[in-house]
Amino acid sequence: MIGRRLALPLLFAATVLCAAPSAQAYCRTSTCLPAGSLCNPPSETDCGLPIAWPADCVGVALQQDGTVQMPFEDSRAAILGAFATWTAPLCNAAPPGIAVVDMGVVPCATVEYNKNAGNVNVVIFRDRAWTHPEGANYIALTTVTFGEQTGEIYDADMEINSAGFQLTTQPSQVGFDLQAIVTHEAGHFLGLAHSPDPESTMYESYQEGMGGQRTLASDDTAAICAAYPPRTIDPTTCNPIPRHGFAPECAADQPKHGCAVSYGPIRSWAWEAIGLGLWLARWSRRRLTARLAPPRRAGTPSR
Ligand SMILES: [Zn+2]
Repeated sequence: MIGRRLALPLLFAATVLCAAPSAQAYCRTSTCLPAGSLCNPPSETDCGLPIAWPADCVGVALQQDGTVQMPFEDSRAAILGAFATWTAPLCNAAPPGIAVVDMGVVPCATVEYNKNAGNVNVVIFRDRAWTHPEGANYIALTTVTFGEQTGEIYDADMEINSAGFQLTTQPSQVGFDLQAIVTHEAGHFLGLAHSPDPESTMYESYQEGMGGQRTLASDDTAAICAAYPPRTIDPTTCNPIPRHGFAPECAADQPKHGCAVSYGPIRSWAWEAIGLGLWLARWSRRRLTARLAPPRRAGTPSR
């Protein structure tokens, strides 16, 4: 999978479609590479199709190593809490039409989408080194793989730069707040792009000491309700299994059973429904400001 950096979208959006009564502006990531988006209100730079998860249910897992910066359960609570923010009853008291399922803890620590093996949408802390070419000033990176012809999201993985940033989880001592950061990234995970509204969670920069992005602004809720119109999701039929099956291991470590790996059935796993979303940030050391870039994206015509 080849990720491509995106230029910052200087786009606007205004009125809300479905739920939130006073949304100002939002943008959704689109299939145009490398920097496409679609905004409300429309922008002259709009192009392509909006991307979204195709089913009513998507799974997310945590890489088992966590981070040395905090107890595993603290990071887990912050991450799952961030995803849950996006699936609360945001759309005129109804939840967006997407459920997020906790797939547990997995060993895979590689960002990948496998066309010939099982997959997992995973959140990974990078404690040892941040090797992305964008540089060590990025606080997190979400890679989303989707079909270029359909906008259907196939896979999404989130990396957090714990090698370069001291993360916090307590509201009383907010530094680089993990839950705020992951809430923004969760938006990318669900197919949202940056908002021009500085008050929104999907705004492109993050100031150290801010925890406010844990909660959504009106344009954030407008975006998620437009992307996933509210509808009732039956938890007994909700299926979070990713394309080509769920696999806790990376492709290189999966047992080979033909061309694909199958793990089933769903009930054998202790999954629980949560809410979900993702982002990318750049840190200016002088101003202690993290700048958030759009997600790294990889479009693929192959299924
Ligand atoms: Zn971002």
